Amino acid sequence: MMADRLDVVIVGAGFSGMYTLLKCREQGLKVQVIEAGSGVGGTWYWNRYPGARVDIQSLEYSFGFDEKLEQDWRWTERYAPQAELLSYANHVADRFDLKKDICFQTKVTAAHWDAAVDGWNVTLDSGAVIPARFVVMATGCLSVPTDVTFPGIEDYKGTIHRTSRWPHEGVDFSGQRVGIIGTGSSAIQSIPIIAQNAAHLTVFQRTPNYSMPAHNGPIPDSDFQEWLADPRAYRARSRATVGGFWNEARDEAIAIHTAPDEIADELERRWGWGGFRLLSGFADQAIDPQANKIVADFVAAKIREQVKDPKVAELLTPKDHPFGTKRPCVDTGYYATYNRDNVELIDLRANPLEAFTATGIKTTQRRFDFDAVVLATGFDAMTGAIERVDIRGVGGETINEHWAAGPETYLGLMVAGFPNLFLITGPGSPSVLTNMIHSIEQHVEYVASIIASLNASQAGRIEASIEAEQAWTDHCDQTAAMTLLPQSNSWYMGANVPGKPRRFMAYAGGLHTYTDICNAVRGKGWQGFVIARGDQVLSESRVFDSLPPPPENMAPHLMEMAMGRVMNWMQEHGRA
Ligand code: FAD
Ligand code: NAP
Repeated sequence: MMADRLDVVIVGAGFSGMYTLLKCREQGLKVQVIEAGSGVGGTWYWNRYPGARVDIQSLEYSFGFDEKLEQDWRWTERYAPQAELLSYANHVADRFDLKKDICFQTKVTAAHWDAAVDGWNVTLDSGAVIPARFVVMATGCLSVPTDVTFPGIEDYKGTIHRTSRWPHEGVDFSGQRVGIIGTGSSAIQSIPIIAQNAAHLTVFQRTPNYSMPAHNGPIPDSDFQEWLADPRAYRARSRATVGGFWNEARDEAIAIHTAPDEIADELERRWGWGGFRLLSGFADQAIDPQANKIVADFVAAKIREQVKDPKVAELLTPKDHPFGTKRPCVDTGYYATYNRDNVELIDLRANPLEAFTATGIKTTQRRFDFDAVVLATGFDAMTGAIERVDIRGVGGETINEHWAAGPETYLGLMVAGFPNLFLITGPGSPSVLTNMIHSIEQHVEYVASIIASLNASQAGRIEASIEAEQAWTDHCDQTAAMTLLPQSNSWYMGANVPGKPRRFMAYAGGLHTYTDICNAVRGKGWQGFVIARGDQVLSESRVFDSLPPPPENMAPHLMEMAMGRVMNWMQEHGRA
């Protein structure tokens, strides 16, 4: 069944999809959102596990595009819980009357390019096909759980819950023996709450993570007053940072040149403030392993302070990756939970999980009986939701074929050979390294400006050139190579999905730099893009050269270290 032709099909009704809908409507475009869930909110619709909340302060993790919206909404806590975030998503949807253009409980299964009409045929799981000029994949970076499974899991008679697909009615674990697999952010948030609810909780840990305290509570008065005085300036300050949130980065402080007591004071102050401020105390901690170890040792000492049993503290201390190279967690009472009598930590490295049984889990050394097991085992990040749609571009090439060696995009927004298909927070965008709301706003506004510009010039399509895609992908790889980021087996690297190509998938140059690059690309008449209508090329600028200038204030020894790594990368990849 073929529906009427639309201007835009948007896939996903999280914050990205909702804002894209609004921006498309502003241009009078005929637009439809397709959403697999039965409501808006994306991440905050699906992830209803106990303890789920943001790890970026809500004053910053919220839309800034509409001052009235901003003024009318009041967050109750520094780090809003999932239910409040979901209410916020619904408030935004209702305020702008978005739901009437969202088709819920429907999946997009395919999108095929039709060169004859400069457009896409989008197939839904109902079998319906919607022709549309543009497709926007607002499908989320962390929306598809990994396919992880365990031998014998089908024989298990208890209940299994995934944190990312938590029942809407909640789960009562009282009186139950519960096992949880995983110690990433989802587990670290839910473990303290499940431990309070269940009779007994067994945590199966394969790799310990660094976690910092949220110190959640009322919004600090200083922040709130500053926000109240001038919300625009408050936002602008966040957007002009690497991460899209204010974290007091000290770009010139070098840990290895700082006296130990000064380092301790600075790290203590940041730990006391909570959240991600520990990531930005010293300019060298993300580049120099020696400086990184200073911060890692500080966190290790904090773990020992909080966990009474030294053996458990030791097991909880990360040893296999530099601090900050896997997404660090932000917790409320995580480490102290291991002091409870009803909580046990099992080290899966020493005691590997063999199989599920009818009554629980069997490791190489023990059998455990559980009434319920929680899988907090993570996501097929960045590419998972996109690759699960059968997307075929020019000449029938699939996106999975195009990304066989790892995802390649231009600016994280478009893929060569896939005209008029936009990705929001796609691979190659700063996305998951930032306050996602600010990345989403930047991407959506940029994509809207591309569409407006195409319409103004009556162009039929825009496509990233293969040269620009290669140049951007190299720039992303090299920017990551400057840092310690590629040195861990993280989901940033695709390492959590067997067989997934290893590539650092986000742009590590910072949201501020990325925004400048995007603006320069637009200023040069859409550099790196080919704009056409039917057989006629209207403008063609295949080369991308809007690279950022070298960092201004980087200490010479860090610059040398970073450039040495880039040279190695270039040699390994035949770019020298
Ligand atoms: P999502 O919210 O993931 O929405 C994508 C939507 O697309 C989903 O509703 C999905 O159902 C739908 N969809 C996907 N594929 C299809 C398809 N084929 N057909 C139809 N529908 C489809 N970021 C931060 O910056 N700060 C945080 O504190 C933070 N906390 C997080 C906590 C959790 C538990 C998780 C999982 C992520 C967190 N993130 C955080 C990242 C978070 O994903 C983003 O902040 C943001 O919510 C993403 O919005 P989105 O609209 O781009 O994607
Ligand atoms: P995750 O960080 O990928 O953690 C998954 C956990 O499951 C890891 O501990 C992993 O161990 C373990 N695991 C996976 N497969 C396993 C297996 N077969 N056997 C044993 N253990 C296994 O996933 P997540 O916790 O859902 O978080 C993903 C991202 O979502 C976060 O990094 C963050 O960006 C976002 N998030 C944010 C918040 C927040 O605080 N606001 C909360 C939740 C999620 P290994 O490390 O050994 O692979």
